[in-house]
Amino acid sequence: MVSSSVLGFPRIGANREVKKAVEAYWAGKISADDLTKAAADVKKTSWSSVKAKGVDFVPSGEFSLYDHVLDHSAAFNVIPKRYVGLGLSPLDVYFAMGRGRQSEGVDVPASEMKKWFDSNYHFVVPEFSDETDFKLNFNKALEEFKEAQAAGITTRPVVLGPVSFLVLGKPAKDAKPGFQPISLLPKLLPVYKTLLADLKAAGAEWVQVDEPVLVLDSAASLEKEFASAYAELAPVAPKILLTTYFARLDSNINFIAKLPVAGLHIDLDRAPGQLDGVIAAIKPTPIVLSLGLVSGRNIWKTDFAAAIKLGQKAIDALGQDRVIIATSSSLLHTPVTLASENKLTPEQKDWFSFALEKAAEVATIAAVLSGSQDSAVAAALEANKVSIAKRRDFESNSDDTVRKRVAAITDDQLERKSPFAVRKEIQAKHLNLPKFPTTTIGSFPQTKEIRQARAKLGKGEITTEQYEEFIKKEIETVVRFQEKIGLDLLVHGEPERNDMVQYFGEQLHGFVFTQNAWVQSYGSRYVRPPIIVSDVSRSSPMTVKWSSYAQSLTSKPMKGMLTGPVTILNWSFPRADVSRELQSKQLALALRDEVIDLEKAGISAIQVDEPAIREGLPLRRSDWDAYLKWAVDSFKLSTAGVTDQLQTHSHFCYSDFDDIFPSIQRLDADVISIEASKSDMKLLNTFKQYGYSNQIGPGVYDIHSPRVPGSQEIKDRLKSMLDILPDSLLFVNPDCGLKTRGWKETEASLANLVEGAKWARENY
Ligand code: GLN
Ligand code: ZN
Repeated sequence: MVSSSVLGFPRIGANREVKKAVEAYWAGKISADDLTKAAADVKKTSWSSVKAKGVDFVPSGEFSLYDHVLDHSAAFNVIPKRYVGLGLSPLDVYFAMGRGRQSEGVDVPASEMKKWFDSNYHFVVPEFSDETDFKLNFNKALEEFKEAQAAGITTRPVVLGPVSFLVLGKPAKDAKPGFQPISLLPKLLPVYKTLLADLKAAGAEWVQVDEPVLVLDSAASLEKEFASAYAELAPVAPKILLTTYFARLDSNINFIAKLPVAGLHIDLDRAPGQLDGVIAAIKPTPIVLSLGLVSGRNIWKTDFAAAIKLGQKAIDALGQDRVIIATSSSLLHTPVTLASENKLTPEQKDWFSFALEKAAEVATIAAVLSGSQDSAVAAALEANKVSIAKRRDFESNSDDTVRKRVAAITDDQLERKSPFAVRKEIQAKHLNLPKFPTTTIGSFPQTKEIRQARAKLGKGEITTEQYEEFIKKEIETVVRFQEKIGLDLLVHGEPERNDMVQYFGEQLHGFVFTQNAWVQSYGSRYVRPPIIVSDVSRSSPMTVKWSSYAQSLTSKPMKGMLTGPVTILNWSFPRADVSRELQSKQLALALRDEVIDLEKAGISAIQVDEPAIREGLPLRRSDWDAYLKWAVDSFKLSTAGVTDQLQTHSHFCYSDFDDIFPSIQRLDADVISIEASKSDMKLLNTFKQYGYSNQIGPGVYDIHSPRVPGSQEIKDRLKSMLDILPDSLLFVNPDCGLKTRGWKETEASLANLVEGAKWARENY
């Protein structure tokens, strides 16, 4: 028999119960017990509904109130000193680590968050040092296993593996220089042994041990650590399913096949090409192979015929009993259920599978491969065939105009007319900006009033004209404010945008939107990514009306504001039938037209935000060049259609540039703004070292906190920036958009920013 499994399930609950309960707890509206109860209800529903779909291995222990890596840190007592001794309950220590805490004399910042591999999920980075005192504060895997058992469901517990746990962490601030978290492995293993032995004693037959770092290049140097860890754990643990996802194992399979584990899970959605190599490597061993055939990362229906083919290949080599049909990764990255969508057309709904539907998919594929004669299975197989055929049919209706335009892209279209040095002179005359020009990243506070107006428009309580009048007033407020405090390059404030991706998706052909397809980004923050379903094109200008209105109010230059092609792509669910490159180029062409229209409308600076360009990097370095080629080309395509006098800007919210530096230079944006306030000056040294030639606005303060930076602080910061960067290249701006901030701190902070720039003009 071929069995079926799900690697993890969304935590939010079909009606956002967990998000609501967590936020209510933070607001002091419900007790810790109420929160536990709300979470227990959602877990129980998830377990039983996955089970009801016929899945053999139902996951438990991967549920989280905030983040599963944070759960591990809390459980293993990896709690930085700053959170200890504050008189908080363990639950409040946990949340303080995740999101910081300011209350009753307690003032601690949040721990650092990082993107979970190449997804838009963020995990809380564990901090290790020689003083880390591992102990099992509680056994979450065991507790949830028992909780499920009490509900009548036997689960396969999930734990994050010891090597990944350490490798994903970072040295604590007070760690010795050169300290490497992985050096703690011998100290950590005894605690994992207890955890796993307890699971076994409680009756768990299998345990899913996630070691996603095995798909990284860096895992090649961790062979010894993996060998010692699993040699120690395997004898006391339930059967271990060593679980990898998001990319291919490549040669790491050679040492993995020697580990004393009972099973191995591989991602065949992202890396179907690895199947043959993996089968060959494990064939002589008793290892069971779990095939990740149902995507945990997208929302498309699985093509059963294709999946069955791969499954059959594994069965032919290993036999039915050594094959499990699984989701490619946890379903954490997909929404709960398609049943909550009432606005998609029946045709559209038929294309998709969300988490619960994917659970049914693994069960059906496993049943077919087991040779089931069940009529329900046969019907599901037949229905899938029909759905896939209909979707293929739809996909074949490509938009010829767009396809031809993409095919005809020339290198010339990617380049500005003159090199940066020439453009700089022309733009200086045209824009007439002072030295050290001040500007912002685009958005101004998205106040309650703005969100309410948008909600009212959505419900039909106000007319479009009323809404637009309201937005115009907001824009005017923002313009007058910027004039008053003396900013140089103005923005309109983006009040008309619900979200920087959705706003564009809603105006482009080729996207559909959901009502309830929430996906966790971090903590209680969920996003609802648009879905790209067909060729993308623009039918009319998307932002020109607002930008030119804003420009009409002032004699200062107004910066147009767009989201870049790579970011729109990365923060949407992309199509699976065509490449990401094609989708990115289609988006780029639509944006190119918008950029040209903005210039025609009298806008003389345009910012095309690309905060997601880095997160889209493939996990394997050998795939980077190909990605960076089309990603950078897409940006260039969208921005290069203008005259030399138009100043192009781009913005990134991060500062890890070391390894992609040449690509940042190749974007050839006239000005880039970046996050720099958190990363000190290390970043600017990188720019200097590489001889970055264009203009740059390193954020002079951190907008992610309500704290107002003093003017002296800004001057000091500018001074240290000017120690490194040539003064002719420096722009002065915050490190990101202001939409999440209140007006009060925005006014104070920006006034200090302007004062800082004035000081720099007098002194440099
Ligand atoms: N222009 C956007 C804003 O100011 C940029 C947001 C971002 O970088 N994520 O909000
Ligand atoms: Zn940003």
